[in-house]
Amino acid sequence: MPKLLLATTNQGKAREYRHLLKGLPFQLVTLAEEGIHIAVDEKNTTFEENARLKATVYSNFSHLITLADDSGLEVDALGGEPGIRSARFAGDEASDEDKVERLLARLKEVPWEKRTARFRCVIAIANPEGRTELCHGECRGLIAFEPKGNNGFGYDPIFYFPELDKTMAELPLETKNQISHRGRAAQEAYRMLEQLAEKVKT
Ligand code: IMP
Repeated sequence: MPKLLLATTNQGKAREYRHLLKGLPFQLVTLAEEGIHIAVDEKNTTFEENARLKATVYSNFSHLITLADDSGLEVDALGGEPGIRSARFAGDEASDEDKVERLLARLKEVPWEKRTARFRCVIAIANPEGRTELCHGECRGLIAFEPKGNNGFGYDPIFYFPELDKTMAELPLETKNQISHRGRAAQEAYRMLEQLAEKVKT
């Protein structure tokens, strides 16, 4: 089976992709497993540009078909922040708990009806012999007043679905993958990768 490089060092994302891409005729490998330790500076201004940059740099370096994503949380009351800065919202070394705390502090005075937000994910698939393709996914919810749940990662404990009366962190991985921004983008990526696998075979 050809290898597919999952270009992330985020363990939460890697766990989700292993589940989301199950059944594809690729051997999923991570940066660590391939001994790749170069860092890509995500200096661009959109999810699309960052995802494309990560996928092409790691694909050129590894000569493997490479999947990278850029994702984040856009909060309406903050004009779309933290957005592409979601990972570093509370500083470079901050934990997930620090980021959640910082966001809740910024939204302290904001009432329920104005706490609307969306997660966005852009997946880039780079083929060393061809173009880089993009897939998009998003999901909408509200920012809760306090964290709840232990699953997932990042902002999951405060991303609340009113229709389920649960935060993302209260959902099992299978359910998160069905409705999340990453799950939605990955459905499109799955179809693209199936076609790519056919091409690689011939
Ligand atoms: P990046 O895509 O590696 O730049 O990081 C995106 C950041 O957005 C993560 O570090 C998380 O803080 C946040 N994020 C992205 N996707 C999710 C998710 O599925 N759940 C919770 N937080 C997420």
